[in-house]
Amino acid sequence: MIKALYVHVPFCSYKCPYCDFLSLVNSPVSVRDYLSALKREINLYRELDVKLETLYFGGGTPTLLKPEELGEIIEEIDKVFGLSGVKEITVECNPETYRKKEFEELKKLGVNRISVGVQSFTEKGLRVLGRKHTVKDSLECLESLFEAGIENVNVDLIWGWPTQSLKDLEVELEHLKKFPVKHVSAYLLTLYEDTPMGLAFKRGEFKPLEEEEVVELHKMLSEGLRELGFKRYEISNWAKEGFECRHNLVYWKMEEFLGVGVSAWGFYENVRYGNTKNISKYVKFLKEDKKPVEFRVQLDETELEKERIMLGLRTTEGIEEKYLKFVPEYLRDFFEVKGGRLRIKEEHLLISNELITEVLRKYESSLNKV
Ligand code: SF4
Repeated sequence: MIKALYVHVPFCSYKCPYCDFLSLVNSPVSVRDYLSALKREINLYRELDVKLETLYFGGGTPTLLKPEELGEIIEEIDKVFGLSGVKEITVECNPETYRKKEFEELKKLGVNRISVGVQSFTEKGLRVLGRKHTVKDSLECLESLFEAGIENVNVDLIWGWPTQSLKDLEVELEHLKKFPVKHVSAYLLTLYEDTPMGLAFKRGEFKPLEEEEVVELHKMLSEGLRELGFKRYEISNWAKEGFECRHNLVYWKMEEFLGVGVSAWGFYENVRYGNTKNISKYVKFLKEDKKPVEFRVQLDETELEKERIMLGLRTTEGIEEKYLKFVPEYLRDFFEVKGGRLRIKEEHLLISNELITEVLRKYESSLNKV
């Protein structure tokens, strides 16, 4: 049964140099045409077994749309699937966009969770990351959110940016302390090859942090968030008790979800699908009432098992203890078993990709022996 629906809103007012999401500054397609296409796409899934518990508007910048435009999509989803079982509706928001009035309107539409793309509470960090908003924008945005009575608020942060010091990270934590934020997503900056920042790095235009500096920042971040009452439940996600993001848990637990919108992904009946990344093609497909799907992969039991291991080991809940046999002997110290669950020790989550790769390698070689 499909429990979650992701809606991609690709529009942005500028392109951040580190961003590898599908985001369009000068879209060849108007907002109006995009919304019509989204509604048609939602209708194409009406025959499936859907009982929604979460909705998530991600981007891009969903708050470049007016609240009533987001409302049109919510209404369509309600008509097609029903919203009576929905417990969480999240909208991603850029700090310079919405204020109290818009948040109040969103609240009336049933939106009960806002994820604010703060990225850094320091002007230095915002400039290094090429963000166009200011710290003041973020503070105003957060204040107005709480004034509007939205309690379930996530702050997105990026850490490990070039020149970031422990002092800078202290400022991030100090600002977080001022607000009753319920969730923090803190991502280590990734330099994707085909982004302006990735290319600048390749050309040697800046020096990334040393490994030891990243380790120190990670330690301070983990301890700082714990002191503020957050519990880590995934590599990059921390929540106050009971405020884990239900939508993301659907992904990590490999439950079924739909993704609509240009470049969106979905997973149901053991099929992973991805929509076209070309917005003009996306709209054209839907004008003809065709699904805008670019690829569809049926996962067999081996692939499902690999996904289970990979996604489960990203979380602090981990995976069943039976998988311990796939942890190479020389890496056992990086893992722990608690309450019948196997997980990566928190202090080693920074190298989780490498650890998970080794577990998957051993799992695959065990198949070859059969
Ligand atoms: S605002 Fe977000 S989606 Fe848009 S370019 Fe920046 S990081 Fe990417």
